[in-house]
Amino acid sequence: MLFSLFEYHCQQIFIVLNTKINIAIDGNSSCGKGTLAKNLAKSLGYLFVDSGAMYRAVSLYLIRQNIDLNHLNKNPQRLQEIDISFHYSLNNDFFETYLNGERVDSELQTSRVANFVGQVSQLSVVRDFIKLQQQKLALQKGVVMDGRDIGTKVIPDAELKIFMTADPLIRAKRRFNEILEKQIQISFDEVVEHIKRQDEIDNSLNGSALIKADDAIILDSTNMSKAEQTRVALSWAKGVIAVQY
Ligand code: C5P
Repeated sequence: MLFSLFEYHCQQIFIVLNTKINIAIDGNSSCGKGTLAKNLAKSLGYLFVDSGAMYRAVSLYLIRQNIDLNHLNKNPQRLQEIDISFHYSLNNDFFETYLNGERVDSELQTSRVANFVGQVSQLSVVRDFIKLQQQKLALQKGVVMDGRDIGTKVIPDAELKIFMTADPLIRAKRRFNEILEKQIQISFDEVVEHIKRQDEIDNSLNGSALIKADDAIILDSTNMSKAEQTRVALSWAKGVIAVQY
């Protein structure tokens, strides 16, 4: 009896101290989910897990090791050589991505990686591997993860799930401005086409298509500034944390 009372009190103390929740943010590209996820993670002191960066890091590893996708399908154990982690750098105010201990943020943005990641992310051996890594990261609680199947497949038990949408034309305008800022020449029509193509891929991802979880809250960012999106989502998160504990 004494022991179980002690156990009970330990559990209560653990619950009070461990007030962290997991947050899943899903949505099409250029909805603003990456920015929202980063802002939420910074405001709450949580870890931002960038699932796109994880697919890119696997792609980078395969490129560097000269592993083609047929070989990988037959030898999925090669994926066990890959360790991906994220660290927040106070100096840079940036969530850095590490591949086997090496910081790879700029390599992940190269066109070599960008052109390969679409095929890599279609492989179920890769999706299963990344899902397992993401679930391990989520075990510690206090993660904000963005992607396309986070609330449905990766952490369906996340305490807060946000499904982001935005008018396709607004998304195209945002993407167009981002590309112009990088001084890359592109027409607006090309960007609209690219967004449409990306949506088709997202909606047909091999067993992991973009689907809203039943218990996800929709955040339509069409007419909202980034600050407004963060304010709204943060109030949801704080509401969930208060109710949970
Ligand atoms: O978000 P980002 O552009 O970095 O994602 C890179 C690619 O990774 C996407 O185009 C998609 O092919 C893949 N991806 C995915 N599932 C996720 C996140 C990204 O298949 N949850």
